[in-house]
Amino acid sequence: MIPEKMFQQILALGEAWGVARMDDQESESKVLIRVEETPELWAQASCPHCQSQAVRGYDHAPERRWRHLNVCQLQSEIVCALPRGECQDCRKVYTVRAPWEGRSRGLTQEFEAFALTLMREMPVKKAGEILGETDQKLWRTLFAPVDAAWTDLSWENVIWVGADEMNRKKGHNYLTVFVALQAKRVLLAVGGKDASVWERFAAELGNHNGHPRAITMGAIDMSPAYQKGVRENFGNAQIVFDKFQVVSQVVKAVDEVRRKEARADDSARQQLEHSSWLWRKNPETWTAKEGDRWTQLKDKPLVTGLAYAMRLERQKAYAATPLGQARNRFETWCRWVRTEAEALISGLLEPRRKAAEMVERHLEGILAHWRQGLTTAFMEGLNSLFSATKRKARGYRSIEDQTAMLYFVAGKLQIPYYG
Ligand SMILES: [Zn+2]
Repeated sequence: MIPEKMFQQILALGEAWGVARMDDQESESKVLIRVEETPELWAQASCPHCQSQAVRGYDHAPERRWRHLNVCQLQSEIVCALPRGECQDCRKVYTVRAPWEGRSRGLTQEFEAFALTLMREMPVKKAGEILGETDQKLWRTLFAPVDAAWTDLSWENVIWVGADEMNRKKGHNYLTVFVALQAKRVLLAVGGKDASVWERFAAELGNHNGHPRAITMGAIDMSPAYQKGVRENFGNAQIVFDKFQVVSQVVKAVDEVRRKEARADDSARQQLEHSSWLWRKNPETWTAKEGDRWTQLKDKPLVTGLAYAMRLERQKAYAATPLGQARNRFETWCRWVRTEAEALISGLLEPRRKAAEMVERHLEGILAHWRQGLTTAFMEGLNSLFSATKRKARGYRSIEDQTAMLYFVAGKLQIPYYG
């Protein structure tokens, strides 16, 4: 089969277009596929302005190129001077659309789909190296279809939402990421983490066919700004404090107690040396070495050990399934912590006491976890999603880049000719 015929078939050009010639430009290690229209084009055409079928060829626009998939290791490009038609009814002159054209200028649909597949699997920089394209061009390839698919998305069934902050780079630079807890997809990312991000979310909900009054649950961390945002914009939503956020606060408090104790007491410092990981983990995940360390430390009068026992007790409260029991466990825990903290003149349990106060203040939101069932599971994976997004967007840290990548990876978007 002659190559022109073969490419005619591979490119699925149909009757209206034909491959006129193949040029290999050895110097550029590139294959040029020259495509021209056939008379059949005008038989099928209609005017894009008035839909009249009385159109005929007028002239040709300047030659353009579209990057296509590689052919035998060589980069290939479709080259075509697109025909312009003239409508006999409305007299307008228009350029015929290339059926192979992707959403980004200068790329074919097949190339775009392949580039997206690579970007799904690896950092954009790496995909650029493989494809021999600049990363700027690949980012543009990502923006166009992601934007279009995201804009079309309907949020009409969204009733349970969660929000979490993504630390964009070192220092204080945050995105608030809103997710649909049932559909397990990222809905929106907005710069900042103050109450106003919830206003933006409410507005965007309207643009996507949803309604703020339909939202019945907002799963968040205990930041006052988020609580205010939910209350002011989503009057029907029950605030639920995400289990993982609550537990991580309690874990952090153990760390604080350990540091304080090591500073306050020399013999405690020696005992606590190289033990920080022990206190950050659950006993089931200790290494053999950490287990041994625990055996050495467990009978020493360390306040850190007590704070750790308090943490384990707190985690058990989450395992106590019925709501009545959970309330009871949380209240008992808070009383216990307060009593121990007051008995200790050194003040070392102060971080613990603060954690207990926080629990008391937020108890209804914490217990809502039981009323709403375990629907916040999706929130657990967000941190690894955030790190994956940052890895993929390495070197490109604008809000637009990171947002597009979040939507692409976790938005469950329907992208045409990609899937
Ligand atoms: Zn017309």
